[in-house]
Parts: sequence; structure tokens; C-alpha cells
Amino acid sequence: MTHDWTDAKFETRAIHAGQDADPATGAVITPIYQTSTYAQEGIGNFKGYEYSRTGNPTRTALQEALASLEGGAWGLAYASGLAATQNLAYLLRPGDHVLLSNDTYGGTFRLFDKVLRNYGIEMTLADLSDLDAARAALQQNTKFVWVESPTNPYLRIVDIAGMAELLKGSNARLVVDNTFASPYLQQPLALGADFVLHSTTKYLGGHSDVVGGVVVGNDNEARETLAFHQNAAGAVPGPMDCWLTLRGIKTLGVRMERHSANAAAVAGWLLGQEEVETVYYPGLDTHPNHDVAARQMSGYSGMVSFTVRGGFEVAAKIVEETRVFTLAESLGGVESLIEHPAKMTHASTAGTGAEVGDSLIRLSVGIEHVDDQIADLERAFAVATSGRLAGMSTSLT
Ligand SMILES: *Cc1c(COP(=O)(O)O)cnc(C)c1O
Repeated sequence: MTHDWTDAKFETRAIHAGQDADPATGAVITPIYQTSTYAQEGIGNFKGYEYSRTGNPTRTALQEALASLEGGAWGLAYASGLAATQNLAYLLRPGDHVLLSNDTYGGTFRLFDKVLRNYGIEMTLADLSDLDAARAALQQNTKFVWVESPTNPYLRIVDIAGMAELLKGSNARLVVDNTFASPYLQQPLALGADFVLHSTTKYLGGHSDVVGGVVVGNDNEARETLAFHQNAAGAVPGPMDCWLTLRGIKTLGVRMERHSANAAAVAGWLLGQEEVETVYYPGLDTHPNHDVAARQMSGYSGMVSFTVRGGFEVAAKIVEETRVFTLAESLGGVESLIEHPAKMTHASTAGTGAEVGDSLIRLSVGIEHVDDQIADLERAFAVATSGRLAGMSTSLT
């Protein structure tokens, strides 16, 4: 008998939901069931598992834990966030339309634009942080409205409850990619979303050591179809990857608190810098969607973007000069990362309507001490804007 953790608080569920002591041995931590197949006592007489593409106990634990954290009836885990996206797309048929946010994650856009279009799935973009623009962009054949909030790299906020209300009575289902917020800070299903999707590679895994994805929902009919395709198309995560993700989510609550606190301090520091033009952080009351963010999030997460005066030259120097902030793509790990979206994560948007500026820098603020994070930026800013390299390269403590 597995214990029912439904009434426990978030942090308790992160550690226990789906993760009872191993029934065979009493192991407190869910084992890595590194097996492809399972002994049967007679033909067709097995203990719930027959082949690891179809099911694996380590994956089951992860799926139950993630379903619990998002407040959903079920969860299905995949080999990557994009594999999870592809699986949701199996609910679509040729002629169906998907409405994406105009600053959707590049890989999601590419999947709909370059792959699924070939299978007759239509896709258009709109600024979904503007509900009027969303309403105008809806079509008769729209089956998914695909929301990210906060968005990337401008950290716009979409009113999830408002969008769910807008879609009531239509054929469109609301998908929320909750990767940037994490279930600790934002609960899309409670706000009216039909499906929540994550790249567990980011905050859920939290340690930049595993790639994975998940879909969580409440509709049991959709679960049947998705679970069928999870097995039939086979983009499943291995048991080791499930275990690493489980290990990561046990500390999600404390990590998100610190990510949010550090990011708020860094955003505040950036606001005071002469070299900084605009700071994009939903926790700032200058943020255009701050009210919506305050309503639907319990914290503002660790992502901060900003533009610098001096354009590409200064931006490039800053991102190459930091040491606490590692120059790298991705986000959501304990270590701080810095990147130049126009040349890195968002290079494929060049020449499109979604193009990002050359003076934009994106930070994934980690959980190192915030004094070291700010000192690192201070030093990189000084080098980038004065060119005084000599004597400054060892000033970081
Ligand atoms: C990284 C990311 C994805 C894709 O996930 P992968 O695990 O890299 O396949 C989807 N959405 C968002 C918001 C992401 O940041």
C-alpha cells in the first residue's frame, strides 16, 4: 500500500509523494531500477511491469511525484522537454491549429514550425500576455493555446486564469509550459490550465546534470492517449535520469526560495547601474505585468534579463568576463549562468518578428552567495565599460 500524501504540504510531497520506501528491500530512496525487462510468473502474469519502455518503477515514482507537485491526477515523463511537447502534439490531427506565444522557447517553435507543419498542423504566433491579441488570434480549428509564463528572454507574464476563462466554451485547450516558474511558484492547473508541461532539465532537476520532460493533467481520457503514445513512440527517460530528477525535486522548495531572493537582489542592483538601460524581472513593480505575476506566482523565480548601453560590444564583454556566472545556455541549475540571447539561445530568431536585441543579456541566477554574484557582475561591468583589464582580473574574492 502506498501512502496518500494528498493533504501534505508542497515541500513534504516533494520528498515523499510517489517515493515510499522500496517494498522489496525497505530502501528509503527509490532505487534506480536499471532493467529493461521483468520476470513473469506465468504467461502474462507479472507484477505491473513487463518492459521498461512501457513502464519502469523509477519512472513511476517520478511521474507520481510530479503529478502531486502540480496538483494533477497524473504525470507522464519523457526523455526531454521537447519529447513531452511532441507527445502532446499526438493529440492533434491534420488541419488543427496551435496558437503559440510570440516569444515561445525556440525549440518549441522549431518543432511546430519545421516538423509538425509537415504533418498538417497549423501554427501562428501572438503576444499572449495581451488577452485581446490572444482572442483575435484564436481560430475555429485552434486546439491548443500554448502559453509560457514567464516567457523567454523578456520574462513577460501571461494571465493564466484570464486565458483559461477566455478559452471556456471553445475547442482549444490551454497548455502551460511551467518551466521558468516551477510548480513551487506557480500552479497552472489550479489556475484553469488543461495541461502543464516542463523541461525537467531546468529547475525541477535543478543541478544541470540531466535532460527530461513531463506532462501533467487531470483529463483521464487524454492520459490514455498520451500514455499510449509515450509507449508507442518511445521517447521515455531512462531510470538513472528519473532518479536524478527525483533527487533534484526533493529540494525544489528551498532552491526556488533562494533563486528568487538572489534574483530580486541582482535585479535591484542592475536597476541602479548607469550602464543598464532596462531590467526585465517580473518581481519589479516597474515590470508591465507585475500585477498579474503577483497574483499568480508566489515568487518570481531566478531569471533576469537586461539591456546595456553600448550595444553588442559591451554586452559581449560582460558575458565573457564573469566568473561566478558561467557563459552557457540553459537555466535553472544551482550555478549561475549568463548568456547573450541574440547570439546564443535565440540566434534562430534573427530576421524574424521575434528577433531579440544585441544589447540584451540573460541571467539564470543560481544559489551561490548573492554578494559573490553581485561582485562578479560589478567587476565584469567595470572591465566592459572602462576597458581597464590590468589589475582587475584577480579582484573577485
Ligand atoms: C529547455 C526548455 C524546453 C525544452 O526542453 P528540453 O528538455 O531541452 O527538451 C521547453 N520549454 C522551455 C521553457 C525550456 O526552457
